[in-house]
Amino acid sequence: MSSLDNFPVSALISSDALNILSTLSQTWYVVDVLGQVRESAPSAVDYGIVVLGQVEDRNLLDLIDQAAVTGNRIERETSIPRTRTHAEHTLYLRIAPLRNGLVLLMVEDLTEERRLDAVRRDFVANISHELKTPVGALSLLAEAIETAVDDPEMVQHFAHRIRREAERLSELVIDLIDLSSLQTGTPGVSFEDIDVDSIVTEACDDVQMLAKSKRIEIVVGGTGNLHLEGRREQVLSALRNLLTNAIHYSHESTRVAVGTRLVDGVVEISVVDQGIGIPAAELERIFERFYRVDPARSRDTGGTGLGLSIVKHVCVSHGGECTVWSKVGHGTTFTMRLPKTLNQPLTAEKENA
Ligand code: ADP
Repeated sequence: MSSLDNFPVSALISSDALNILSTLSQTWYVVDVLGQVRESAPSAVDYGIVVLGQVEDRNLLDLIDQAAVTGNRIERETSIPRTRTHAEHTLYLRIAPLRNGLVLLMVEDLTEERRLDAVRRDFVANISHELKTPVGALSLLAEAIETAVDDPEMVQHFAHRIRREAERLSELVIDLIDLSSLQTGTPGVSFEDIDVDSIVTEACDDVQMLAKSKRIEIVVGGTGNLHLEGRREQVLSALRNLLTNAIHYSHESTRVAVGTRLVDGVVEISVVDQGIGIPAAELERIFERFYRVDPARSRDTGGTGLGLSIVKHVCVSHGGECTVWSKVGHGTTFTMRLPKTLNQPLTAEKENA
């Protein structure tokens, strides 16, 4: 036990210093060499490093001791397991010795920053991979045309494949531009009154040819005459993506249904299919960019792997969400839940996930 244990912290460090500390928005603690908290930020966030007024982590206690003994400042990035989940907090710790054997421990939460770094890194790696495949194919096909120059049939065959690869590449670029403008928020695109019936009709018309090619019937039902505030083109493109997927991942001669309803001020637009379904274990990941349950099948259908990511971002940027229900072999239902008016967002979810 330290001999200064019984002194109030105000007797050990100046009241000016305490006043300055209390203006900081960061979480901070004044601790003694044994890791006992003597003072803390009024709004200290519970990162699980202090339990019942005591620093628990062995490594952190060593650092505190080291700072107190050497009189040197220590800065360190560290990961601390979260109390209720398997995830970790990434924290930046600044440990500065004060007078009288006390140490100031400042905690900066870098969890979100590090998560976004990882998302960006994955994205760059994925996009390079996604672009490499069609670009590589184009170059090989061009070479094949050169060698088949005397065989008009083969030239036609390779030219056709070049066109398909070029179309794939252009779809990918269009989806990327859509996604990036959704994430950065396109200036000048303001919210307007959306007539839900009209976007349902337009989206169904847009995918009619594709549906016909698989003899899939699209039926529309639910509550008519609904309106919501939003960006019409974005909601339309999200619904088109859901319908395209419903058709791509369904067998021939099945049905796809679009339903609309209003629940507690939230407009729900559902797309229901009787298709192949999605395994429960994959449901969490399908909204990630470039995630595909079956990459080979998705490639066959010409999917870019960005469709659901776009849908999710459209919903979140409208203060809503996209939910999914699915059973393998029975079908899938995606529901866009969009608040009717802007002033009552559903979620505070992060947009960059
Ligand atoms: P893709 O371009 O590959 O379709 P998406 O982001 O639109 O990319 O969808 C991601 C993955 O989710 C798809 O590759 C597919 O495995 C799965 N998926 C999406 N919609 C459906 C659906 N209606 N039925 C079954 N699987 C689906």
